[in-house]
Amino acid sequence: MDYIQKSKEVLWLPFTQMKEYDLNPLVIESGQGIKIKDTEGNEYYDANSSVWLNPHGHRKQELNEALVKQLGKIAHSTMLGMANVPAVELAAKLVDLTPKGLDRVFYSDSGATAVEIALKMAFQYWLNIGVTIRKRFITMHNGYHGDTIGSISVGDIDIYHQIYQPLMFQSFVAPYPYTYRHQSGDPEETKKDCLEQLKKVLEEHHDEVCAVMVEPMMQGAGGMVNMPPGFLKGVRELCTQYNVLMIADEVAVGFGRTGKLFACMHESVVPDILTAGKMLTGGYLPVAITMVSEGIYQAFYDDYEKMKTLFHGHSYTGNQLGCAVALENLRLYEKERTVEGVAEKTPFMKKQLETLYELDHVGDVRQVGFMSGIELVKNKQTKEPYPWQERIGWKATLEMRKLGLMTRPIGDVIVFMPPLASTEEDIKQMVSRIKKGIYQVTKEVSIR
Ligand code: PLP
Repeated sequence: MDYIQKSKEVLWLPFTQMKEYDLNPLVIESGQGIKIKDTEGNEYYDANSSVWLNPHGHRKQELNEALVKQLGKIAHSTMLGMANVPAVELAAKLVDLTPKGLDRVFYSDSGATAVEIALKMAFQYWLNIGVTIRKRFITMHNGYHGDTIGSISVGDIDIYHQIYQPLMFQSFVAPYPYTYRHQSGDPEETKKDCLEQLKKVLEEHHDEVCAVMVEPMMQGAGGMVNMPPGFLKGVRELCTQYNVLMIADEVAVGFGRTGKLFACMHESVVPDILTAGKMLTGGYLPVAITMVSEGIYQAFYDDYEKMKTLFHGHSYTGNQLGCAVALENLRLYEKERTVEGVAEKTPFMKKQLETLYELDHVGDVRQVGFMSGIELVKNKQTKEPYPWQERIGWKATLEMRKLGLMTRPIGDVIVFMPPLASTEEDIKQMVSRIKKGIYQVTKEVSIR
């Protein structure tokens, strides 16, 4: 089959203008380690971990074997009213691994659904304990929590969300601490200012608010924006002070991406609800989780006639294949010291990324562990962005593709989120391709 041609004829790809795809089509056929290969035989570094979800590389033998082993037992049975063996084992493991105080696991199949569940739980929690006026959420500027109607209602990225406004419920928006674009340019000032603004929203509206949504330590799809130290702790304190729930969305940052198993652990923060997914199954299968405190769980636990049940669930909730692979994935994390490895390699990656400042149009490089973003600007001195219509970020990643590296930009921020198993040599090779790609499309300074 001519896969390229057929893909143009029969597919509709996510978050993709198909007119652009038709000009730059690509069909992946295989992967090995941290590289993926297309149907034409070209190989690429998977520099965004197949959209942030691959820790160990592709075709990891142990994960393949865990999948085959589970296939010998059962692929899937429903979790409506019953449990299954790998789902129980995985939940027990997750309760052990997550910050103390998160005691219950509710499964779903994507980050967006994990968030959707968190929203319903937070809303219904208050109802179930007799508080009937809480119907709103506080989210953060440029937040991204998925693409379903509920999750976009707590999102704040105009380009993705604006068009669906008539379908969405309204959330309050507080600023995310974006030091590079804050008037002070100073992390401590940015932190203080943003916490004050969050406090103001809470002061005015806490009585009607179910929960505050936050992406801990680094905002992902909003542009790879790292929080100043102390901000997350500040959010936790404000949520406690104003008696609203805190939802930490760890879909992008969870499972070692930032150099700790969960990003909340950087500041010893325990949220009331935690959502995660992506790297949970080692990049193999769609399993996501929403974890809550025992207190929240107990608010739903009653006689059926009291109507406190959480009426939510998906056909593939708690899928056995996914849970079995996730368990093996977490075993590998321990065996291969995956998270410790990220922490150890982070300074090397930082050094490599800092060389990008040699380019005239690299305005800011932000990094937490193996999660990083490179912000391209038209004018480095004034921080003036490129007109969005120029699609500089997009053009740079197309250039990188020619150089054998695959990633996806967020506007003019180049995302670099390599698999956690990448070696220092891999990182060096990838950063050098990123540098050449940026240089090719901005071309105003000679490369060293
Ligand atoms: N929450 C955050 C913080 C994310 O970054 C994402 C996706 O990038 C999601 C939720 C949605 O996850 P999914 O694409 O698996 O639905």
